[in-house]
Amino acid sequence: MYTAAFHYHKAKSVAEAEQLFAANGDAKYLAGGQTLIPVMKQRLAAPSELIDIGGLPELSYIKHQGNIVTIGAGTCHAVVANSTDVKSAIPALAGLAGGIGDPAVRARGTIGGSIANNDPAADYPAAVLALNAHVRTTKRLIDGDAFFTGMFSTALEEGEIVTEILFPVPQKAGYIKFRNLASRFALTGVFVAKFATGVRIAVTGAGSCVFRVPEMEAALTKNFAPEAVANISVSPDGLNSDIHASAEYRAHLVTVMAKRAVAAALA
Ligand SMILES: Cc1cc2nc3c(=O)[nH]c(=O)nc-3n(C[C@H](O)[C@H](O)[C@H](O)COP(=O)(O)OP(=O)(O)OC[C@H]3O[C@@H](n4cnc5c(N)ncnc54)[C@H](O)[C@@H]3O)c2cc1C
Repeated sequence: MYTAAFHYHKAKSVAEAEQLFAANGDAKYLAGGQTLIPVMKQRLAAPSELIDIGGLPELSYIKHQGNIVTIGAGTCHAVVANSTDVKSAIPALAGLAGGIGDPAVRARGTIGGSIANNDPAADYPAAVLALNAHVRTTKRLIDGDAFFTGMFSTALEEGEIVTEILFPVPQKAGYIKFRNLASRFALTGVFVAKFATGVRIAVTGAGSCVFRVPEMEAALTKNFAPEAVANISVSPDGLNSDIHASAEYRAHLVTVMAKRAVAAALA
C-alpha cells in the first residue's frame, strides 16, 4: 500500500459530509472506494482528508413512482442489478449494473461514485445520457445532457454531492458492451432508449467522454430496427486508441453495438 498519509472521517449524514468537506482543505468523498482507493494506491491522487459517505441509508434506495425510477447515489451496483423495480421498469439498466466489473466491485461500487468519476469506459454514464436522466445533488438538479463534461469531469462543483439519479422509464431500452475481458469495462458500449418522443442513443468507451449519435437517433426514431443503423458509422477521428483497440476498431464497434442494443431492446 503506497498511499500518502491522510485523515479519515466517517460522515453520519450527507449534511455532515458537506460540512467536513468545507472545513478541510484537500478533501475527497469516499463512496464504494472501487475507483478512489486504486487511484490512491497508484499515487494518482493523494487527498489529505477522506470523507466516507459509504453506507449512508439516506443515499441508498430505489423508488419506482409513476414514470420515474429514482436511485439513491449510494446504491451499489449489485442492488440495482437485483432490484425488482429496476428489472421490471428498465431491465436494460438492471442488466448494465449486473455487467459491471466482478461481484466484489458490484457489492461495493455505487452508482453515484460511477457517474461522479465519469471514467470514459464506465457503463452508467451511457444509461444516464440515453435515458435522459436527471442528477440531483446537494445543490441542484442537473440535466443528464449537461452532466458529463469531458474525460473524468462532470458539472459537479467542489464539494457538491450527488444524492440521487432520476431515470425516466422508456418504452424500450437495450445496452450492449464489447467488454475488456480483464476489467469488464466497455471497449465500446451502446445504450439505446425508445421514448414516445423519439430515440436516444449514447456511446461509452469509444471516446474521451460518453456521447450521443444524432444520425442514429434520427434513423431509429423513424424505424426502430437494427437495420436502421447498419449503414451509419461514426468517424474514428478523436476516438480512443490504446493497446486494447484502435480508434478505427472502436468506430466499427459503435455500429455493431448499436445494432445489437436495438435487437436487445426488441427482444
Ligand atoms: C476491477 C474493477 C473493475 C471495474 N469494472 C467496471 C466496469 O465494468 N464498468 C464500470 O462502469 N465500472 C467498473 N469499475 C468501476 C466501478 O464501477 C466503481 O464502483 C465506480 O467507478 C466508482 O464507484 P465507487 O462508489 O466505488 O466510488 P469511489 O471510488 O468511492 O469514488 C469515485 C469518485 O467519485 C466521487 N464520489 C463518490 N460518490 C460521490 C457522490 N455521491 N457525489 C459526488 N462525488 C462522489 C469520489 O470523491 C471519487 O472522486 C471497476 C472497478 C474495478 C476496481
